[in-house]
Amino acid sequence: MAIEFSAAVRRIPVYPAAAAYALPEDVALLASNESPEPPIPAVVAAVQAVLTGVNRYPDPTNSKLRGALSDRYDVPASRIAIGNGSCDILLAAGEALLEPGAEVVYAWPSFSVYPHISAATGATAIQVPLNDRHEHDLEAMLAEITVATRLVVVCNPNNPTSTALPLADVAAFVERVPPHVCLLLDEAYCEYNMLDDPDASIALLARHPNLVLLRTFSKVYGLCGLRVGYALCGSDAFVTAVNQVRQPFFCNAAAQAAATEALKHSDAVAQRVERAIIARVELEDGLAELGIRAAESQANFAWFDLPVDEDADPAEAERDIVRTLGERGVQVRAGTALGRPGALRVTYGTPEQNARFLRELGDLLA
Ligand SMILES: *Cc1c(COP(=O)(O)O)cnc(C)c1O
Repeated sequence: MAIEFSAAVRRIPVYPAAAAYALPEDVALLASNESPEPPIPAVVAAVQAVLTGVNRYPDPTNSKLRGALSDRYDVPASRIAIGNGSCDILLAAGEALLEPGAEVVYAWPSFSVYPHISAATGATAIQVPLNDRHEHDLEAMLAEITVATRLVVVCNPNNPTSTALPLADVAAFVERVPPHVCLLLDEAYCEYNMLDDPDASIALLARHPNLVLLRTFSKVYGLCGLRVGYALCGSDAFVTAVNQVRQPFFCNAAAQAAATEALKHSDAVAQRVERAIIARVELEDGLAELGIRAAESQANFAWFDLPVDEDADPAEAERDIVRTLGERGVQVRAGTALGRPGALRVTYGTPEQNARFLRELGDLLA
């Protein structure tokens, strides 16, 4: 007899892990929107400094990190949640807000973790299709808010499509979401967004206690291997709720030390963003030379439909290309797993990796 699992586990989708972890070193890892750059050296030193003290539990209140975030963003520490990666806060938000009969509204295709939220809690997911520019359709999302809605998630810039909405549109949307509905703005890629100042959304918190800005050290800071993210919130209540549903020591000592140190290096972060923008231009130009028009990216990755013959199956063409690129040492993410068969999501790598990807893709399409 096999073990009998819960209904929640039977509902939760299984996301394919990037295949590269067992591969040789010279693989270009462009499948997971990671930074191609190692962590800032001072951050590595800060981690090393705490390792001799790990016989003690980490600070369960994350006080240094929350203090540093509070100073940096001028948000009271009581309104800052920390997580074992920002996904930890996302899943905790689902647990804290949702239950059978409740509804969560989000766009689709969007972040692959959102479907877990409803599956894990028994709530109903309302997926609202993106518009034809691969952007959130905020009007359509508003129309889906009902008395049952507890949570609305807006991913800006959106993963996997790389597109962003201007903050003015998001601000107008916040005004119209009922105040008892939690609006979670997932800003994992905000540092790469050239439409608005990444920190401009913070001003909205003062007027909207139901707003949560979800951010991470996984992307531009290059710390995804340590797992640390945070949420800047419009009220203390959200922080209390996500802490209630989690184990006490959700953020380890190395992650807390790394994130606290990383916040001191905004110049290095700005340089990383600059290099990502150069990669954006290189990739978009290179794709254009192959006759491919990528979505308008405000993130650290490109999103595009592969050119396929009219009678060909886009999902099959995508599968072949992703597999062959993988065999040639270039890992990218297939659109089928992300909700759009025939599309590819390609993270910006180093200049060499980007050139290698373009060369191999050009070769396969020729
Ligand atoms: C990468 C990503 C995150 C960050 O996840 P962590 O758990 O912080 O590593 C959150 N949201 C989106 C949309 C992402 O793409």
